[in-house]
Amino acid sequence: MCGVFGAYSARDFVAEDVYLGLSALQHRGQESAGVAWIDENRRVNVVKGMGLVHEALSQSVLANTPVTRAIGHVRYSTSGGSMMQNAQPICANYAQGPVAIAHNGNLTNFLHLRETLESRGAIFQSTSDTEVILHLLAHQSRRRPLDALLRALSEVRGAFSLVVLLEDGLVAARDPWGFRPLALGRRGDNYYVSSESCAFNLLGASFVRDIEAGEVLLINERGLTSYSLPDSSKMAENSKRRWFCSFEYVYFARPDSVIEGISVYRARQEMGRLLAKSVSTESSPSGIGVPSVDFVASLPDSGTTAALGYSQESGIPFEAAVVRNRYVGRTFIQPTQKVRELGVRIKLSPSPELFAGRKAVLVDDSIVRGTTAGLVVSMIRECNASEVHLRISSPPVRYPCFYGIDTPSNGDLAAAKNTLEDIARTVGADSLSYLSREDMMKAIGLPPDSLCTACFDGQYLDAPDVDGERCRCSCEKIFE
Ligand code: AMP
Ligand code: SF4
Repeated sequence: MCGVFGAYSARDFVAEDVYLGLSALQHRGQESAGVAWIDENRRVNVVKGMGLVHEALSQSVLANTPVTRAIGHVRYSTSGGSMMQNAQPICANYAQGPVAIAHNGNLTNFLHLRETLESRGAIFQSTSDTEVILHLLAHQSRRRPLDALLRALSEVRGAFSLVVLLEDGLVAARDPWGFRPLALGRRGDNYYVSSESCAFNLLGASFVRDIEAGEVLLINERGLTSYSLPDSSKMAENSKRRWFCSFEYVYFARPDSVIEGISVYRARQEMGRLLAKSVSTESSPSGIGVPSVDFVASLPDSGTTAALGYSQESGIPFEAAVVRNRYVGRTFIQPTQKVRELGVRIKLSPSPELFAGRKAVLVDDSIVRGTTAGLVVSMIRECNASEVHLRISSPPVRYPCFYGIDTPSNGDLAAAKNTLEDIARTVGADSLSYLSREDMMKAIGLPPDSLCTACFDGQYLDAPDVDGERCRCSCEKIFE
């Protein structure tokens, strides 16, 4: 998952705004950050580095960079490794001028395109899928850059929410399915494009609208001009269909963001409410039983909003009984399992005073590998809790994501092959239940046929090519 941000102004210097926007999107990627702009000599410039925004970039340098349009990116790797050469924005000066691209999403036909481009002589600098967009664009050197971009984007499949800088202006583009969010904001005459609306709050900008699925929006001195991508990846009957990622509402987006008119906070709270309703009216899908407990706790921050909803619906008091070390980032986003495990222990700490001798429902948004739930439940047991009932505010994650979220191959997903009883036993919980897919969609509140739920039900769109068992997009996930 990544975050992208772009700024356009007729007169103000905006590089620092991009820095601030990226800081608000830090939850979307912590491996690298970068900012790009075009200088008065028509050359593209970029500063990027590994780590968090404040480690990778200098706010004071950007504040003194005299540019009126710029784009930025925060990254965690889903396609290509975690290394400097894959940090974005990706930039080039080609026959038609400068171009910089920042991308959120995963292109499912990446390897096919890369092989075709290489056979025509293209030399790739990185292993990131985003670079194919740059090459596709550069290969159309007789078209003006915006036309070349439109043509390039009609060839790629899968998920892309992009900000692009051309001499023509700032461009925002979203794939025809709308997998990843992308929003337009405004402060005075300045325009901003952001992965999430939460970044506008920081800048004192107001949310204008979402970039439409399939829209390419050019922002320049002539104002805003909207283009449509050809729906060539869609069958005719699907041309109006959307496929917004439901996991953004479950986990990924910040709760103070609004995506497609839906408050992420309200959606999560409703997921918690429906979770409480479903387990208080029937036994959990595994038949493990309905917990009668002293309090509800969450795995902060990801489970907290749903836990509040659970508490409000069930009438069981909420206690902030698991404390989060606020100086440690999201654990899942760390790319290796060892770092992840250590990260959970450093990040989350249950209070012995609250858990000792008491029964608790523990709410988290999801179980992926089971690392977090297993470690936290065992730490709660060490606090001498008498019962721990785990409640998950999304359905079991059974399938990998090919659209830009770093879920692992099937083999590493706790729910891919195990029953709920097995998972409950492995993580050490007295009982375990999940929100149903239908309740999750109800909580989000968008029309059910506009939501991607592929990691829960395996219903993929624009699925990547599979070579034997190995996915041929750059994620190289294995199907078992
Ligand atoms: P795991 O520890 O592998 O079971 O991952 C689950 C934990 O990571 C949960 O506490 C979630 O808040 C978080 N999480 C779930 N899915 C993702 C994802 N795709 N990317 C990053 N973090 C995630
Ligand atoms: Fe989102 Fe899951 Fe679909 Fe990936 S597979 S886009 S995580 S809903």
